[in-house]
Amino acid sequence: MSRLVMKFGGTSVADIDRIKNVARHVKREVDHGHQVAVVVSAMSGATNQLVAWTRAAAPLHDAREYDTVVASGEQVTSGLLAIALQEIGVNARSWQGWQIPIRTDASHGAARIADIDGARLVERLAQGQVAVIAGFQGIGPDNRIATLGRGGSDTSAVAIAAAIGADRCDIYTDVDGVYTTDPRIVPKARRLDKVSFEEMLEMASLGAKVLQVRSVELAMVRNVRTFVRSSFEPVDGPGMADENPPGTLICDEDEIVEKQVVTGIAYSKDEAQISLRRVPDKPGVAAHVFGPLAEANINVDMIVQNISEDGSLTDLTFTVPNADYERARKVLEKAQAEVGYQAIQGSSDVAKVSVIGIGMRSHAGVAADAFKALASKGINIRAITTSEIKISVLIDAPYTELAVRTLHSLYGLDGK
Ligand code: ASP
Ligand code: MG
Repeated sequence: MSRLVMKFGGTSVADIDRIKNVARHVKREVDHGHQVAVVVSAMSGATNQLVAWTRAAAPLHDAREYDTVVASGEQVTSGLLAIALQEIGVNARSWQGWQIPIRTDASHGAARIADIDGARLVERLAQGQVAVIAGFQGIGPDNRIATLGRGGSDTSAVAIAAAIGADRCDIYTDVDGVYTTDPRIVPKARRLDKVSFEEMLEMASLGAKVLQVRSVELAMVRNVRTFVRSSFEPVDGPGMADENPPGTLICDEDEIVEKQVVTGIAYSKDEAQISLRRVPDKPGVAAHVFGPLAEANINVDMIVQNISEDGSLTDLTFTVPNADYERARKVLEKAQAEVGYQAIQGSSDVAKVSVIGIGMRSHAGVAADAFKALASKGINIRAITTSEIKISVLIDAPYTELAVRTLHSLYGLDGK
């Protein structure tokens, strides 16, 4: 017998039929003797609607009341799933964040979980009752409902799994796992059986939108084995109740016996490049450039600076999210006198393509192979950054698909 957390996202609980289907997935695990805590999202689209209503009521509004409104979507699905479970003979009750309680910090609208008291949940689970928990919400230090930021029910699920010492946290979604790359671009993309926390973190932050990034960070820190699987597979399909069901396990790298050099290729078109030309090469310049951007809450990602030939002027290139491109340019234009650059150039028509794999730590030449392959396709590289387990290149956006496909075959990731 094990203790499981089963989390169901918005598309999995989008209507009453799907909620009944979810109830059957839960019953399958209960029938196999497991203790089960379920975490649910709001019905798909519900949270967007609630957010829109708060904005319509007043564009600038009290974040505590925003939380009161947007947390309600999960309250609805937790109650409906508890009803659907009871209807098929499963002992279940719903829990709101404040009833457990899930304590958060004071950042309404984007709160972080501070502490979860799992004692009462564990007690009920041991009595054979299924706990159906509203995701995305907790209770702040002010004793008011707080929400965790969009996509936050993944984080609820992982945090609860850690708090009750679950053997695994199953994230049921509308895809059947994590792929080597986006299957819409590369039809030969393969589902990964296992991926390490670190690799998944890179993939998630690069736009493989299966999981909220924060949930992966938390899973890594608390070592929660997290399993991505589909709620649209037949409830009693092959292997569904096995110890290794169809899906992708996100786990510690020690659990991955056959380490691939490259595990996946990720991409993000949400990038913009800014280059400052002829910047004085002297101490403090970087601080003058990146200080104001940080103050404006603009996230800078890739940074490339040249060494000047004669020690006087250099170029500085970096990327920001597409959505912040115009704002970043304005901030820098304002800082021109202080920074002393001579020209500012940029493009929002760029994309970042990344090669990810823990095996890179012990293999040389991975980057050189990538550059050669991209060059052979006539793809120009604007900037490069690397970490221990990742190489990212910035290229012109129209070449994204070609670059992803090229790298995917280069590292032998193509399936049949
Ligand atoms: N319902 C919330 C959202 O749409 C939380 C979640 O689904 O994870 O962002
Ligand atoms: Mg989600």
